[in-house]
Formats: sequence, C-alpha cells, structure tokens
Amino acid sequence: MIPVARPVASALLELVLPLPCTGCGTVGPALCPLCRAALAPVVQRRAVGRCALPVSSGLVYDGVARRVLLAYKNEGRTDLRVPLAAALAAAVRDALTAVPGDGVALVPMPPTVRSRRDRGYDPVRVLLRRERLPASRLLALRRRSADQVALGRAGRFENVDGSMSGLPAAAGARVLLVDDVVTTGATLVEAARALRAAGAEVLGAATVASTPQRGR
Ligand SMILES: [Zn+2]
Repeated sequence: MIPVARPVASALLELVLPLPCTGCGTVGPALCPLCRAALAPVVQRRAVGRCALPVSSGLVYDGVARRVLLAYKNEGRTDLRVPLAAALAAAVRDALTAVPGDGVALVPMPPTVRSRRDRGYDPVRVLLRRERLPASRLLALRRRSADQVALGRAGRFENVDGSMSGLPAAAGARVLLVDDVVTTGATLVEAARALRAAGAEVLGAATVASTPQRGR
C-alpha cells in the first residue's frame, strides 16, 4: 500500500506555505522544472563484483537525483515517486534488452524488518508498482547485516556475505535483481549468490541510480 497521509498533508501544506523544491531548495513546487528535467533517465551500465554482474541504472546518484531519492526513501516523500519510477523502469527496460526471451522475474532486495517498520513502505516495490512491473518475492534475509553506509568497499562485501537466501520458488527462475542505488554492488552480488545457490539464473540487475564511476 502506498501511504497517502503524507502526500495529502504536504499537498495541503503547499496551499498554505510555499515548500522548497526537494532538488535545489527554490521556493515553489516540490520539484521545480529544472530539477524535474535533471531527473530524466539517462541509462548507464556497469558490471559489479567478481562475477561481473551487469547493472543498468536510470540516474547518476549525485546532486538532484541523490537529494530526491534520499527524501523519497528516508523522509516519507512518496509524492516524489513518479520521476524515480520512470528512471527505474528505463533501467529495467535497458537490462531486459540484453536478455533473450520473456518470463524474467523482477526481484527486489529484501528490506530489513526494521526499515519496513520505520518507513511503512518498501521504496523499490512502490516504484515497480507505479510502473505496473510485477515484483517477485524470491529472496529472504537470513541474518541482519550492519548498515553499509559506514563501511569501505571490502567491508561492504564481507558485511553482506551469506546474509540472504533464495526461496524454494527461485529454482529454475530467470531473474533480474532490482534495487534503489548501486554503490559497490555488494548487496546485488550477495543476492545473485543466494539466488544462484537456490537454482535461479541471474541475468543482471536494474537500479534507480548508480554512484558516479571513477574516470567519468
Ligand atoms: Zn529545483
């Protein structure tokens, strides 16, 4: 379910007080025309982990895209979901062009119980639903891992290693992983390992955004 209380409240508030644009702080709509334009998807591809898992992303996780994605995920700003959903859908389409045949299951990362309780919604599933892309539940968390934000590259891979397991229904499935942001790719690589161990074929991943790559 998409929580409506917050967007309705912020829409009402906007009638009374002008709110700053989430992207640049200019007083006006929740997203000014310039920031909306900055969120037009430009798909990039990269490969992550030793298995060189191909990842397509709709936006660079920087500037406006980073601020808007953080507000959407951490401040309950589900009113910002439209451009983010379009970016994710562009990444999914791009990833699927490299894959022959139909019947690919889109598998979001399992949220921690705590993040779901704190937010009341699963950001990636809300975006998929907005684009009418069905999500498959083929992954489970086996243990809690520490927050990845404070960890370095090697630490991130160690932290999540063995943290997920594929569900029995994953056997024989052809899978595209879906997440909000790819940083080192540690979470996606762990998800691919878990699904492959459960008998799935993992074709790649699609994310809303990717952290900027060195040398670009
Ligand atoms: Zn703006």
